[in-house]
Amino acid sequence: MTADPVDPAALDRLAEVAVRTGLNLQEGQDLILTAPVEALPLVRRVAAAAYRAGAGLVTPILSDPEVALARYAHARDESFDNAAGWLYDGMAEAFGNDTARMAIVGEDPMLMAEQDPAKVSRAGKANSIAYKPALEKIATFQINWTIAAYPGRQWAIRMFPDMDPDAAQAKLAEAIFAASRVTDENAVANWEAHNARLRKRTDWLNDHRFRALKYSGPGLDLTVGLADGHEWMGGASRAGNGVVCNPNIPTEEVFTTPHAAMTEGRVRATKPLSHQGSLIEGIEVEFRKGRIVEARATKGEAVLRELIDTDEGARRLGEVALVPHSSPISQSGLLFYNTLFDENAACHIALGQCYSKCFVDGDTLTPVEVEERGGNSSMIHVDWMIGGPETDIDGIAEDGTATPVFRKGEWAI
Ligand code: ZN
Ligand code: ZN
Repeated sequence: MTADPVDPAALDRLAEVAVRTGLNLQEGQDLILTAPVEALPLVRRVAAAAYRAGAGLVTPILSDPEVALARYAHARDESFDNAAGWLYDGMAEAFGNDTARMAIVGEDPMLMAEQDPAKVSRAGKANSIAYKPALEKIATFQINWTIAAYPGRQWAIRMFPDMDPDAAQAKLAEAIFAASRVTDENAVANWEAHNARLRKRTDWLNDHRFRALKYSGPGLDLTVGLADGHEWMGGASRAGNGVVCNPNIPTEEVFTTPHAAMTEGRVRATKPLSHQGSLIEGIEVEFRKGRIVEARATKGEAVLRELIDTDEGARRLGEVALVPHSSPISQSGLLFYNTLFDENAACHIALGQCYSKCFVDGDTLTPVEVEERGGNSSMIHVDWMIGGPETDIDGIAEDGTATPVFRKGEWAI
């Protein structure tokens, strides 16, 4: 094959959508961009689109999988408790000065699969601690930010191991471009229509003010209490700096903040969870008073245990999200091993940190007020999929009456 497996015209459109719809980058605004080196073709296009949009300064920060693996092969043990705090402090300072943030993903999702889970977990924890001041500006949605994807070659080979590498990369590229709604010239307009559809769902849910969601289905008997004064969000939303942006390209979900102490029952994951380069399969947990009291996995259970032992909040929910089974990503039938895509294929919940923005007047709440309303806090935020074609969900009102929200995996409204 001589043709480029990644269509350059579609990459141009993805860069444009990431800057204009994803970030809605403002005239004079700076941008910090993180990406794997392999994604440079997209990074360069994003930089060009950002400067065309009037960016002040675009600063790319690149990572490389072989450099990451070299650490596991050769570094002294103490290395795994270290993180580049100085870098994250600088990012936090930049975000505090209204710098926008874009993350481009595209690396091999199983990069760390062969590495010692304890070391992976220590490195992840050190990173989370160092990143916290910067992450808080993202989690509390103080600035416009977005994540988009580049079809990395190793990622493609993981997804399509039986295909020729060029063909695999071309197939992943097509899947990313379709999910990101950039397959035709009207990409930015397509996103406006998509955002309007998601807005109808969030308006309906916000009008109903449910106290809880009750889930049933195979392996699923779960009641998720919603936080006091929670607000449903989805698609485009307004960041604390006033900029309306789309934090995820693609996105199909509507989501809100559950109450950290009010989830009861059992749930089984409907898709494997790719976490820090490992795959966790067959997750089954039981919640009591909002806390995971029992956790199992058929594969990667050690990684799951490390994850939920990160801190107290890691055993509690920080997000609940609704995605119909008919979503384009679900219908593609592909498992991307990447949350940005897989979370848009099914209803999901996230362990760990909540989005304080998912409260009425969320950007004015202090961390204490978020906690008083039931918002969870943790160093982690990990989404996993619990929905499928059999999922039924009822909204439970304050007086206990139930309203169908989902039937057989689809919106009932
Ligand atoms: Zn989500
Ligand atoms: Zn999430």
